[in-house]
Amino acid sequence: MNFKEIKVLFKDEMDSRKNFYYKKVLDILSRNQKLTTEELMSDLKMNQRSILKILYDLFDLGLISYKKIDNETIYWELRKNSIDWVINRKISKSIKQLRELLEVETNQTYFICEKCGKRYPYFIAFDCMFKCPYCKSPLTSIDNSQYIELLKKRIDQLLQIKLT
Ligand SMILES: [Zn+2]
Repeated sequence: MNFKEIKVLFKDEMDSRKNFYYKKVLDILSRNQKLTTEELMSDLKMNQRSILKILYDLFDLGLISYKKIDNETIYWELRKNSIDWVINRKISKSIKQLRELLEVETNQTYFICEKCGKRYPYFIAFDCMFKCPYCKSPLTSIDNSQYIELLKKRIDQLLQIKLT
């Protein structure tokens, strides 16, 4: 499997340090048929609590499955067939959210209060006669063209990564 996509998968919800271990677990499992919790613990030099947290997260995402042999032994393995599907679903969801955001940003003019930094859409700014509802400072319009470009670029990136 391609681990470039795994990075996309965890980009939003996990910090980079965790991200590293999630990728590492998937990597180890992709090179072995199945491994016990203990084997993964010693491979990654992690305690049981930390490794189980990662394994359950990956299980929830549908990326790995487990088999209980007895009360002591659990085998973990990669769900190779569902990984592409999970990644694509995740990417599609991100693209949808970004497109919605892009539409809002493209169709809406925003105003900012320089004093308290609050951002308002046009209809609120208009209602308040272009004065901040909190501090009454004058509102100025925001140029969001750079942000729009950024959103477009990100959507293109995701479309390229998406597996067909
Ligand atoms: Zn203000």
